[in-house]
Amino acid sequence: MRLVSFDDYRIGVLTDAGVVDVTDVVPDVPAPLKSSRMLLLIEDWDALRPKVEAAAGKGKPVPLDSVRLLAPVPAPRKVYAQPTNYRAHVEEMKDSPFAHGGEAVPADMGMFLKATSAVVGPADTIILPFPDRPIHHESELVMVMGKRGGSIPVEKALEYVFGYTCGLDMTVRGKEDRSKRKSYDTFAPIGPWLVTADEIPDPADLEITLWVNEEQRQHAFTKDMIVDCPNMIANMSWVATMEPGDLIFTGTPDGVGPVVDGDLVTINITKIGDLALRAKARE
Ligand code: MN
Repeated sequence: MRLVSFDDYRIGVLTDAGVVDVTDVVPDVPAPLKSSRMLLLIEDWDALRPKVEAAAGKGKPVPLDSVRLLAPVPAPRKVYAQPTNYRAHVEEMKDSPFAHGGEAVPADMGMFLKATSAVVGPADTIILPFPDRPIHHESELVMVMGKRGGSIPVEKALEYVFGYTCGLDMTVRGKEDRSKRKSYDTFAPIGPWLVTADEIPDPADLEITLWVNEEQRQHAFTKDMIVDCPNMIANMSWVATMEPGDLIFTGTPDGVGPVVDGDLVTINITKIGDLALRAKARE
């Protein structure tokens, strides 16, 4: 199933005929909390899924381009990320002036957090905070967690995944801590929708491509991750308990490069779709 957040934090199912609004199936929330509706749906998915399916079958679809898509999980509680998770990217960063202390990061030990306020969706714009520093795209598969869990065993890890989406781990290159360089507002675009995990039984079986304007910059297979998705969940949940709707950016392949004012950045992941955002200089 493809789930979208749209307009005023409404929840929809994307069908071949368009978006069907299923917001009424999700428990009611006070207005200031409506950005958390998707978290409630994910948390209570086993009970709500039949109702969502029934509502999606009965409702009247509207064309996808008639709604304003938001980040499918607009207000996650946490955004985990895995650094340098493909060998070719480790290699390309080794000689880079932006390498951390000149050494490649041991990816199996890695985890950092991005500010949740950096999360934006397909209808938004990537705001570039500096005109004179390199700001790079990193195309990444993003896992959306479905259940609360700490110290999740690796063999059960995928049972905790609710679904998958595309993500851009936007990054200012430099020597500051990752959390600062990757937490600027708009630096965590995700979308265009959330594909439930039943449609992607093996997250190691996906292909990622990224273009800047017409130029293909990144192309990789998720089977080439250094730390695979189950191990990432095990490692990260051993540190910080995972909660429904938490996002995990799974690391970028090689081919990272600069994004400048006016660029259109497009990521495609097989079985998910295309996420495209325009970049603009901060005023
Ligand atoms: Mn990254």
